[in-house]
Amino acid sequence: MRFDIFSVFPAYLNALKLSLVGKASAGGAIDIAVHDLRDWTEDRHRTVDDTPVGGGAGMVMRADIWGKALDTAFDIDLGRENPRRVLAIPTPAGSPLTQEICIDLARNCDQLVIACGRYEGIDGRVATHYASRAEIEVFEFSLGDYVLNGGEVAALALVEAVARLVPGVIGNPESLVEESHGSAGLLEYPTYTRPLDWRGESVPQILTSGDHGRVGRWRRDEALRRTALRRPDMIAALDAHQLDRRDRATLGQHGWYWRAQPAAGEHPIRPVLEIADDPRLACVYAELAARTFPDACPPSLADADVRAFIAQHLSDEAFAAHITSPRRVIVGLRDEECRLIAYSLSVIPEGNGAAGAEDGAPVDAVLSDGERIGPLIELSKFYLDQEWRGSGLGGMLMTGTLRALSAHTREWERPYIWLGTNAGNKRAQGLYSKLGFELVGRRQFMVGEQNNHDVVMARTLDVSY
Ligand code: SAM
Repeated sequence: MRFDIFSVFPAYLNALKLSLVGKASAGGAIDIAVHDLRDWTEDRHRTVDDTPVGGGAGMVMRADIWGKALDTAFDIDLGRENPRRVLAIPTPAGSPLTQEICIDLARNCDQLVIACGRYEGIDGRVATHYASRAEIEVFEFSLGDYVLNGGEVAALALVEAVARLVPGVIGNPESLVEESHGSAGLLEYPTYTRPLDWRGESVPQILTSGDHGRVGRWRRDEALRRTALRRPDMIAALDAHQLDRRDRATLGQHGWYWRAQPAAGEHPIRPVLEIADDPRLACVYAELAARTFPDACPPSLADADVRAFIAQHLSDEAFAAHITSPRRVIVGLRDEECRLIAYSLSVIPEGNGAAGAEDGAPVDAVLSDGERIGPLIELSKFYLDQEWRGSGLGGMLMTGTLRALSAHTREWERPYIWLGTNAGNKRAQGLYSKLGFELVGRRQFMVGEQNNHDVVMARTLDVSY
């Protein structure tokens, strides 16, 4: 691959004689030629610029000088038919330079000509003229959202990023595989070397365990975590099929979720949590409640009883009353299109919680270690829309619910939350134990004429699970 770089400060590009790129160019893996733009001037002062047409500050680089210079580069015989020639023009107004573009250039470009601007930049006709020539592609690129004095630094960056991907430039191609911005679509995990302890900081212990499986998992989790924190745009572009269940669970801890059965090419969403405090939202909650309640009922329940329960307890009016009640807390999750996809409803008992188990506690709960707990907040409803079950979103809803309740129980000595769920609904019980609940008792629960057997589970409000 051939690089031709044009600049009014050719010495700036001496750095290309150093390190891996320098070696690759000396060894013939790539061919780099740096040209002084002033060699194409004809006046005594070797002038390359003039004042902007239409007025304004600064100077603009002349199209006629650039044209003569660039033509000589594009006239070079590359020794093959229809070579791919690209004119790269660094400019803060260009499209961002990405690894994907560098990979394409390294694999498929025969000649990369780089025109380094200075002053206010290069006359705009240079880009349009070369773009109109069928044998030349023009790529106006930016290093980032800041302004440099000239294009030389951008040219150095482009040559280095492309050249290292040309076969034979980097000795060990393995080192390119797991890098940031590679095919995984993630930033790289942090790396460490000896000494293992330095200024009170130690290398994460798992890396010295010799367990390659666990090291690999740790690195993957770190890559996911870092990317979620630093580059949410990269997470938003991920496809569910690039990730396994564990990857998705890790991203869930950082607020990103896919539906349990994502379609090919489906990107994750970052649900938004709300505490429902406006009775006008009642119908949205009632609608989701009516849709999700039947799924939690045992099959033996008559449809008519389920419908009657919904009409009586999950109506717009019922939710409006919950929303306005100081003893009810409703937490919802909405998807990126603002659709409600999950909700919880908690009931706070009378008293401030310091009064003891007998005073207003809805259940008489005893933990597995024999400790009696109470009074308890009731988690009366906890529902995810069907397509979101098994997505990990339950964890987000639970954390949001517990946090919202904490605001109401600051004065309580040891606040606990309980829930009753149908004894036959093992899926729900599995979810609740994952969310930190333990079995503390049983109760009867009437739906219509039928007495249902519920298990009662409880956990603290402490959100450190
Ligand atoms: N007036 C120009 C503008 O506002 O778009 C800025 C010109 S800048 C002072 C001079 C030269 O620096 C540009 O022609 C370009 O070659 C280079 N340059 C500056 N910032 C850059 C960036 N973020 N990426 C790539 N090249 C840049």
